[in-house]
Parts: sequence; C-alpha cells; structure tokens
Amino acid sequence: MVNKKQKIIIGNWKMNPLSVKKAEFIFQKIRKGLSFYLKKADPQGKIVICPPFVYLANFKKIKERTKNKKNILEIGAQDVFWEKEGAFTGEISSAMLKDLGCQYIIIGHSERRNYLQETNQMINRKLKHSLKEKLIPILCIGEKKEERKQGLTEKVLAEEIKAAFNGISKEEIKRVYVAYEPIWAIGSGKACNKEEVERVYFFLQKIFNKMYGSRFFQERIKFLYGGSISKENIKNYLDSQILDGFLVGGASLDPENFLSIIRETIFNF
Ligand code: PEP
Repeated sequence: MVNKKQKIIIGNWKMNPLSVKKAEFIFQKIRKGLSFYLKKADPQGKIVICPPFVYLANFKKIKERTKNKKNILEIGAQDVFWEKEGAFTGEISSAMLKDLGCQYIIIGHSERRNYLQETNQMINRKLKHSLKEKLIPILCIGEKKEERKQGLTEKVLAEEIKAAFNGISKEEIKRVYVAYEPIWAIGSGKACNKEEVERVYFFLQKIFNKMYGSRFFQERIKFLYGGSISKENIKNYLDSQILDGFLVGGASLDPENFLSIIRETIFNF
C-alpha cells in the first residue's frame, strides 16, 4: 500500500550547472539546509537529486565523507541505457550508476522525448531494464500544449502509459513512480493547477486498473507532479490526497527555493 504521507522530492538538474565547483556548491548548500531542518523536525519523506552524470562521483564522495544516521538525501540519474554493457558509445549503464550510489533513474523525460527522439518503445526498454536491475524508475509522462488545446491529453497519456508498461508484470511495477509532467508547464512558470493534476490521476487510475486489476493504481503506484513547482506555489498542492511528491527542475538548482519546497513538503514547518 502506498503511504501518501511519505513524500519524495526529486530535483532534476538537467544540463546544469556548468562546473563541478558550482555543482558541489549547490549540493553542499542543500545538504547543510537539510541538516538544519533535521534538528528542528522529523522528516516525512526523502529527497533525490539527479545531477548530470559527470557530477555523480563527486556527490558520492561528499556523501561518504559525511554519513549520518538520518540520511534523507539520495542521488539519482537523469537517464539510463537498456543494455548492460558493451559497444554503445556515449551511453551509461545501470551497473555504472549503481556503482556511483544511484538508486533512482528518471526515464522518459519530455526533453529526451522531444530533443533526442526517444520513443515510447525505447522508454519501455529502459523501464524494463531499470526494474530488472533493481533501480527505482521515475517515469515521466505528459502532453504538449497543442495536444492539450485539442483535447488530446488523455489519449497521449494513455498511449505513453500503455507503451511504457508493455510486458511489465504486476510484481515488477511496484517500485515505479509515475510523474505527470505536462510539457507546457515545464520551465514555463505556469504550473498545472491541482484540480487538473487530480483529474489526470483519476484518469490514470482507470487505465492502470484496466491493465492490472481493480485498485492497483491507488494501492501500488506512486504519483508525482512536475512542472514549474517553486517555493511560491508549492502550498497549492500540499493538501492533495493523491500526490506522493514532486519532480522539480529549475527550482532545484536554487538552494533557497529548493529548501523551501522541501521544508513545506517534508518537514511541515
Ligand atoms: C522538469 O524538467 O522535470 C521540471 C519539472 O522542470 P521545471 O520544474 O523547471 O518546470
């Protein structure tokens, strides 16, 4: 059963910042902020930072140097390839990511779908592979502005879900997070309102329950929202009963903004 009280906040740094020094600076600021919060309140959830691949080794070292009991900060990656190893120039394997301390993997982000022509079939392979390798996938789905205007949101989401989960069993699926990220809301400053996110949740419920049996979605799938979340609007979503957390892009690179989102969502003070 999904425990909706425990929230997860995923920070997707995309292709930022531009140096190790800057990346470590942001990471350390967030870590320090978290240590401060941990002295004041008990956390209800965790945080996962997904930096560019090239910073993962540095973050692992920082984490190892300062291990503490209440570790609520995890490291994730922004993508993974579906083959284990070999002649795949430019790709990164799940074994490499696990070796660097990554447990979480973002899969199917719209920027990869749009700029790199990642298809639903490729995303299905990545999802299957991640599950087989015991990683925790965060699957992104969402419609474009035009598709929304034309009333195609449900059609797009249904296609993305059916293709992504094709051939994946009920047992395997339990670890997946589904992140609804409407493309028009990403980086636009115009977040999707809570009611619309909830409508999507209830639509996905129907799709999943048809695929995997009644109450499957409510009981097994963790559901996130992403798209222009910031310290200014996070409050609008906090009383929602259906959200397990947030995928945060731009604001996760600004320690002050990101820490405010974390404080409101996970520490409740
Ligand atoms: C994202 O890219 O996953 C995202 C949610 O970005 P932003 O928060 O900047 O809209």
